[in-house]
Amino acid sequence: MRIADLHTHTALCKHAKGTAEEFLAAALARGESWYGISDHCPWPAGYDSESRMEISDFPRYRELVSDIRAKAEGTSLKVLYAIEMDYVPGRMEEVCPLVEKEDFDYVIGSIHYTGNFAFDNPDFLEEWKREGTAEQVWNVYLDSLKEYVTSCNFQILGHADLPKKFGYRPVESESFRKRFAEIFEIASAKGMVLELNTAGLHVPVHEIYPSRTLLELAKRAGMKLSYGSDAHAPEAIGRDFETAAALARECGFSGFATFEKRHMIEVPF
Ligand SMILES: [Zn+2]
Ligand SMILES: [Zn+2]
Repeated sequence: MRIADLHTHTALCKHAKGTAEEFLAAALARGESWYGISDHCPWPAGYDSESRMEISDFPRYRELVSDIRAKAEGTSLKVLYAIEMDYVPGRMEEVCPLVEKEDFDYVIGSIHYTGNFAFDNPDFLEEWKREGTAEQVWNVYLDSLKEYVTSCNFQILGHADLPKKFGYRPVESESFRKRFAEIFEIASAKGMVLELNTAGLHVPVHEIYPSRTLLELAKRAGMKLSYGSDAHAPEAIGRDFETAAALARECGFSGFATFEKRHMIEVPF
C-alpha cells in the first residue's frame, strides 16, 4: 500500500515536538511513499507569531525541508515541500503572491480563526461555552471558507470542518449542506482536493475531518482526496490512514491524490 501523508508540521511552528530527523525516521518506518512537510505559514506583520514561524524564519524552513529531502535520497520516500496557508481576511493580497512564487509541491488552504478567535486552540475552550458562540463560529467560518476557495489558489482544502474539534458540531441542516456543497463545487472546479485529516480522531470530537456527510457532498462535487495526519509529533505520522481509506471507499472514492510541483498524481487504492 502506498501512503502519502501530506499534512505534517515541524518544531518551527513552536507547538510541535520532535526533530526533523525524527519525523523523517517515522515516515520511513511507516513505509510512506510521500512525506509532505506543510508547516504553518507565517502571518503578515508577525501576528500570532507564538504559534507559527516568523517571516524571518522562512529561509530556515526552506533549508530544513531541502536538508530532509537530501537525507531521504536513495530511499523509496519522496519528501515534499509544502505549506499550510491560513486565511487572513483582507491580507491575502500580501500572502498569496509570496506563496505563489515559492517552489512548493502543493499548498494546503486552512482556516483556524474566525475574527480574532483561534477556535481550534484549547487555550480558548471557555469561549465555546458561551451562548451563541457555536452558531456564530460556524456561520463566519463557512462565509470565510467560501471567500477563501473563491479568491485564493491552493491544492488541498485542509480539515474542512475543523470547528467541530471540541464537539460543537454544526446542525446538519439543509442550508448547512447547501453551503458546503457550494464550497465544494467551487473548489472542485479549481482542481482542489479535499483533505481527509485523521487528527480529528484524537481530539474531543473523535471523528475524521471532514464528516461522512461532507465527504459524500465532496464526492458528488467531483473532488478527489488527499490524506493528512496533521502530525505535530513524529509518532503521529501516517496515523489511522487505514481507517481513513475505509471511510473513503465507503463514500465511493477509488484512490487518493498527492502532488509534485503542484501537479496532481492520482494513486488508486
Ligand atoms: Zn499546528
Ligand atoms: Zn491546520
